[in-house]
Amino acid sequence: MMGLASYACHPERSRGRQHPEAPPQGRNQFQRDRDRIIHCNAFRLLEYKTQVFINHEGDLFRTRLTHSIEVAQIARTLARNLGLHEDLTEAISLAHDLGHTPFGHAGQDELNACMNEFAPEAGGFEHNLQSLRVVDELEERYAEFNGLNLCFETREGILKHCSVRHAAQLGELGARFLEKRQPSLEAQIANLADEIAYNNHDIDDGIRSGLLSVDQLLEVRIFARHHEAVLRRHPKLERRRLVGEIIRSMINTLVVDLTENTLAQLAEHKPETVDDVRAAPRLAAFSPELRREADELKRFLMRNLYRHARVMRMTSKARRIVRELFIAFLQEPRLLADDYLRDDPVRQARAIADYLAGMTDRYAIQEHRNLFQM
Ligand code: MG
Repeated sequence: MMGLASYACHPERSRGRQHPEAPPQGRNQFQRDRDRIIHCNAFRLLEYKTQVFINHEGDLFRTRLTHSIEVAQIARTLARNLGLHEDLTEAISLAHDLGHTPFGHAGQDELNACMNEFAPEAGGFEHNLQSLRVVDELEERYAEFNGLNLCFETREGILKHCSVRHAAQLGELGARFLEKRQPSLEAQIANLADEIAYNNHDIDDGIRSGLLSVDQLLEVRIFARHHEAVLRRHPKLERRRLVGEIIRSMINTLVVDLTENTLAQLAEHKPETVDDVRAAPRLAAFSPELRREADELKRFLMRNLYRHARVMRMTSKARRIVRELFIAFLQEPRLLADDYLRDDPVRQARAIADYLAGMTDRYAIQEHRNLFQM
């Protein structure tokens, strides 16, 4: 473990907040951001939003909330190993999915399709951009500003991807997408921690649901390798514990590899400040060998879990619910509190998207039932 490195984000050198505020007492600026995220409404709604399995399919499956906590846990370990600011990494991780729609990617894809079809001028729906909208505008908790008024560094980390069209409208924050620069290392590792978390917990949830089997996963090299190593140590281990041990050692392998490889990249490029990090090539990365293995696992999950017939059935139902709600709100703006937006189709479509994106799975299902089955 090392202290805060010179290439880390330092809270006292933050590029600041959009609305100037007195510095926090008893906490640093990034702790304040982390605390504001935990206290906001959108954070609590994550509990009832799908990761892969719809929230009511079973109490043991990950939701967006437990996913975000797992991402934060992995990211904090990485931050400590690399001399980065742990509170900032935690804030970015906890906020990274705040803009997610109900029903996971299915909900997001359908909302984007509706926006493009019914309000082509509005510029579609992007979930990363929506996470930023939540913290910049949509939360209504503070007397003097909309949103949470987070530091530039936290917002930079939340905006993981962004289309060129939107980047051009985001000023300083969007500039890196146009100039092809990197975000801070805290943001880079939060992003990779997201990948480590979902690849591993989706195996766990996939096996728990019966959609994946251990035998089937043996075709994936990283799983097979750890399966063999665990069985060598514990030849008679029952399945539940076997899966638990494999996943824990895969996460550990990925975290150690990412730490070592990133330290090697840092030694090679020698960034001295976070601006050096932003100008350098992407420094946080797995070794090429582990990158290949992680990609193989992702492809396996895509083929066998995310496109499994049972998941696809849920996906098409979810898309229908989102589409029908969108159209209902469009035709009957009184259903939205913001019906004064009626005269401005772009703002109206955006208000519908904000409202729909904020819904939990069960709220969307209930709202759909109320509108269409009574
Ligand atoms: Mg995520």
